Amino acid sequence: MIYLDYNATTPIEPRVKEEMIRILDEFGNPSSAHKFGRKARQLVEESRYKVAKLLGAQPQEIVFTSGGTESNNLAIFGRALCFERGHIITSCIEHPATLNPCRQLQRMGYDVTYLPVNSQGVLDPDDLRRAIRKDTILVSIMHSNNETGVLQPIKEIGEILREREIPFHTDCAQSIGKIPVSVSELNVTMVSLAGHKFYAPKGIGALYVKEGFIIKPIMFGGGHERGFRPGTENVPYIAAFAKACEIINCEFDEIEKHLRAITDIIWERLSRIERVKLNGQGTPRLPNTLNISISDIKAEQFVKRLDGRIAISAGSACHSGVEKPSHVLVAMGLTEKEALSSIRISTGKFNTVEEIKEASEIIEEEIKNSF
Ligand SMILES: *Cc1c(COP(=O)(O)O)cnc(C)c1O
Repeated sequence: MIYLDYNATTPIEPRVKEEMIRILDEFGNPSSAHKFGRKARQLVEESRYKVAKLLGAQPQEIVFTSGGTESNNLAIFGRALCFERGHIITSCIEHPATLNPCRQLQRMGYDVTYLPVNSQGVLDPDDLRRAIRKDTILVSIMHSNNETGVLQPIKEIGEILREREIPFHTDCAQSIGKIPVSVSELNVTMVSLAGHKFYAPKGIGALYVKEGFIIKPIMFGGGHERGFRPGTENVPYIAAFAKACEIINCEFDEIEKHLRAITDIIWERLSRIERVKLNGQGTPRLPNTLNISISDIKAEQFVKRLDGRIAISAGSACHSGVEKPSHVLVAMGLTEKEALSSIRISTGKFNTVEEIKEASEIIEEEIKNSF
């Protein structure tokens, strides 16, 4: 079975797994003053250094969390809770891990503006400019979209917000290992990372918090992670996460080139089919993601028919068993029917050219057999 759903999650890289297992036996509590504790502390701090290095950040700017969802919650609530009320700007196409914290803040009395995107899935910085108010306390816009791979003009947004001294959070869960992310270039205040999107285990992530920027913790306990995130550190997972960052840092060019090449092979083949349309075409996208609408197919059924041979996702987020059109595709102006006929193919570094060729053939055939 060929795995083409890397945007959902990735397998663990063997070197990451090895590191994790090695460190499982380093059981010391990083907060302990004795030798066991000091060893664990050292591992955590070395890991922090590696993560920071990947982002062009300083080690003290990295806060370890349980993943992308927690990082987004910490960034959004952590900022909002510094005030009793206030205005937050985000976009219509964010991951639920951003949209739902924002909705919760609305219930608590905060105002939220959800910016639209154009037909390519890109936000207009002028819309952002117009949405800014005197009481805007935070802007949260994702770096790259998990469904379409479409990139947002983060640098430009960062410049607008820096001038106005408004904190800027960006969800980079999908970007790490696929496109460069450098906090010094982006003018951002906070950045979310999720380990399992780049070959580390699930349940580990980080939030970059710019030096000097203060957020409130959303959990209360000991003073771990500069007081931003209490709880005894998960040392083996932190080390695994850092190892994954280190590998990407060292091998980025190679990985990116491979992703681009294999994803192009698939698109080369599918683009020849008349009923196929690429969502987000003509605008910068992640090198590994293809979100395509296939007119008159039902994506859920299509994905099921491929199961056993190829693992891909329907473009619609089917949670409670009810098929709902993707909020991202609908925001791009697709009809409900078009959104429900969309699939997401997302490649990763373990895909070989051979299996990609085979998968392209199978998908092409399945499309042709669908009519
Ligand atoms: C996967 C993902 C998340 C959530 O990360 P978890 O570690 O699964 O909680 C958040 N944002 C985006 C864009 C993602 O792709």
